[in-house]
Amino acid sequence: MGQQIFKGNIIFTPSPEELKICAKSHIVVEDGTVEGIYERLPEKYGHAPVKDYGERLILPGFVDLHVHAAQFYQCGLGLDRELIDWLSDCTFPAESRFSDPVYAREAYSLFADELIRQGTARACIFATIHKESTGLLFEILQEKGIGAFVGKVNMDRNCPGFLREETEVSIEETEELIIQYGGHPLVKPILTPRFAPSCSGKLLAAIGELAEKYNLPVQSHLAENRREVEWVRELFPSRPTYSDVYFDSGLFGQTPTLMAHGIYLTDRELGLIKDNGVVLVHCPESNINLASGIMPVRKWLGRGIRAGLGSDVGAGHTLAMSKAVVRAIQLSKLMKFFDPWAKPLTIAEAFYMATKGGGSFFGKVGSFEKGYSFDAIVVEDDPRIAGRLSLEEQFQRFLYTGDDRNIIARFVRGRQVG
Ligand SMILES: [Zn+2]
Repeated sequence: MGQQIFKGNIIFTPSPEELKICAKSHIVVEDGTVEGIYERLPEKYGHAPVKDYGERLILPGFVDLHVHAAQFYQCGLGLDRELIDWLSDCTFPAESRFSDPVYAREAYSLFADELIRQGTARACIFATIHKESTGLLFEILQEKGIGAFVGKVNMDRNCPGFLREETEVSIEETEELIIQYGGHPLVKPILTPRFAPSCSGKLLAAIGELAEKYNLPVQSHLAENRREVEWVRELFPSRPTYSDVYFDSGLFGQTPTLMAHGIYLTDRELGLIKDNGVVLVHCPESNINLASGIMPVRKWLGRGIRAGLGSDVGAGHTLAMSKAVVRAIQLSKLMKFFDPWAKPLTIAEAFYMATKGGGSFFGKVGSFEKGYSFDAIVVEDDPRIAGRLSLEEQFQRFLYTGDDRNIIARFVRGRQVG
């Protein structure tokens, strides 16, 4: 790939407190990795070709830490229900279609195209229980050039018969996929027990053993909904909390772990999450759509917990992470109705969660500091409006009012993917 130089108005968040703006600057990329940002290009690059994006913004590509590829067709459907009914009425029947690889290939291709179109560079993805179609998802994402962790879902109880796995088969097929797809630099396997209620203790323990054996990350759901928390208490009466169910199975930070939602957490759980470096994924659109609750992000961050953002499609109705950023800010403002002292998220903080914060799960991803992967989107706006705004205002306007039509180029590790 060698050397690439891009020029434009470069904006990123090296920390949650800092929105760094490099007006009309050059970003030098070596073999897909950022080498440096220069207002004036140093002598040694004097004759190198520069891709000049003019007045446009160059931003880090988005990181979606929680999304269900098989629910893509389901976006916007049945969202007048709450979690447990939505799963049984809408989601499980939709996911059963993925036993058919022909259906899966088309659905997953459309999903991957839309992910890229919306400016996502990296995603942590749930497939379904089906081995063959999950394999196709790995291959489609590899082909498209996006970065991802992909998990075959495991579940052996509390789901309809057509989605219930035999415990041993679930483990065997998961291991086969790990062996088959474990070697790719950008698209990698992740262990994906759906959530504690749909997994027996035996299955959870076996998944934990796979995580340890192959040193693989883990993703699941945690404390999204009050009814769900109560259900876990009934299903695992010997465990003090929901988080303990995962922890005792080796699925809670023993290897890098993502837990989606994390709304209803006890002090004990917050301690476990922090001490084990578990990353919580805030999915604001989904939490609104399924009336799950409001994650007290500010409070969790204040306790030293790491958190990123997820679209949670199809409970979320869009793959556009710019909208997750906006919704996270809006929900953090609504928190003020419950806690007058709650401080809402700033735009920089929420953008950080959707880029460098979530990106840390992938390594040096989500920023333009030296050594970071060049994952980027190029954003343009109507010059009649943009011309009247500061760069910071143009950035804010894109997040709030922009969409995929404003994104004119997308890069993952230096390669243009859209
Ligand atoms: Zn989910």
